[in-house]
Amino acid sequence: MERESARDDGPFGGGVAIVVVAAGSSTRFGTDKLAVHLGGRSVLERAVAAVRAPFPCAPVVVVVRAADVEAQRERWQPLGVRVIAGGPRRQDSVRLGCEAVAADDETVLVIHDGARPFVPEDDVRAVAAAAAKVGAALLAAPVVDTIKRVSERTVTRTVPRANLVRALTPQAFRAGVLRRAWGLAGQREWTDESALVEATGNDVAVVPGDPRNVKVTRLEDLDALRGVFPRLTRVGQGVDVHPFAPDRALWLCGIEVPSEVGLAGHSDADAPLHAVTDAILGAIGAGDIGEHFPPGDERWHNARSHVFVRHAVALAVAAGFALVHCDVTIVAEQPRISPYRLAMRERLAELLGLPVGDVSVKATTCEGLGFVGRREGLVALAIVSLERP
Ligand code: MG
Repeated sequence: MERESARDDGPFGGGVAIVVVAAGSSTRFGTDKLAVHLGGRSVLERAVAAVRAPFPCAPVVVVVRAADVEAQRERWQPLGVRVIAGGPRRQDSVRLGCEAVAADDETVLVIHDGARPFVPEDDVRAVAAAAAKVGAALLAAPVVDTIKRVSERTVTRTVPRANLVRALTPQAFRAGVLRRAWGLAGQREWTDESALVEATGNDVAVVPGDPRNVKVTRLEDLDALRGVFPRLTRVGQGVDVHPFAPDRALWLCGIEVPSEVGLAGHSDADAPLHAVTDAILGAIGAGDIGEHFPPGDERWHNARSHVFVRHAVALAVAAGFALVHCDVTIVAEQPRISPYRLAMRERLAELLGLPVGDVSVKATTCEGLGFVGRREGLVALAIVSLERP
């Protein structure tokens, strides 16, 4: 039944099936590298999505460590991806994956490393098309460094690099070609399926691939990939209105501003800080200030509003975000803001953990119109932006 849908994939008459191997132990990495996030998605999620992109109807199997099968099934089954346990060596995991998709000999098996989160869609399509034609194909990138053969600490030879390439994945094979190679190779070891097929006398087509298709092996590899994936950026807005009231202090952006009237409210009624709090909560989808600090709650009676801002910042940090910018506008006929603008920016910068240059406070009047024009109250607006690396 799966094969029927795979037949939709254009020139691939025998269909396409995808195997992603993610059963390694990450010993060189120190932590589970496949779970590390790049631009908001894990390395493995990106690897599967990338190799699947040109063949959305093809059956996909992800091969993981036996201990991870249950957790990964929960993650992948709703997306139509099968998850199976791998074997002791990479080659065993690949073979188990290929057998699990039960392909007939003409099906093109596209085999990809779960640790390669970036491969362009066109590269995947090209290597699969070459395999459909020749029987076996791999993606390869040029070698740019000069390669030396060494013995202990001495160079024994400089290797001409004109005919050298770096083997990437995906590699692709007609299932029948792989099956013949497995039969001939017995229990020998090989580092990739291309090596296996080469050793058994089959041609393997070389398809030029994007050199940024790196395998995440060390922590430093992630730095190279951060240039490939955009950071996740969020913007949030907040608006707050408070009426003026006699016998109240006037707090704006955490600064007490000398004034004959203050703002009425349950807390210190610092409307700009309430707007900033709501903007941060909005950016991370965490509700609004009234939900976190109910106005009827005695704990927040006359509370200083920096408490609310700090709470929202802590939630953003816990969600993996960092503040990058904040812009506040105060709409009021009184008081004049400009004498206090720098102090307000400095206080906001301190609360948000930002340089003062990334925090803006602006003011405008309402030209005598409406409740602001009648000096009954003021409006505060805030926009914040956050990034998750
Ligand atoms: Mg308020």
